[in-house]
Amino acid sequence: MGKQEAPVKPDVCTAESCKKTSARFGFCNDHFEEFKFGLVKKDGKKAADYEKKLEQFILFKKKSAQKVA
Ligand SMILES: [Zn+2]
Repeated sequence: MGKQEAPVKPDVCTAESCKKTSARFGFCNDHFEEFKFGLVKKDGKKAADYEKKLEQFILFKKKSAQKVA
């Protein structure tokens, strides 16, 4: 045990192909919401049922946007 695969900088969002600054738990604000919803895993990779969850996530966001109006 010498080499560990963790070259990700702690101050950048963990999510794949995201270069935003991390705000919470190593994610930027957008990806933290996705992480909370289970779309993105702790290691920044998409969940297996990402597309299914993404639909629910979009619906959820629409609903909460309507509540404000
Ligand atoms: Zn991000």
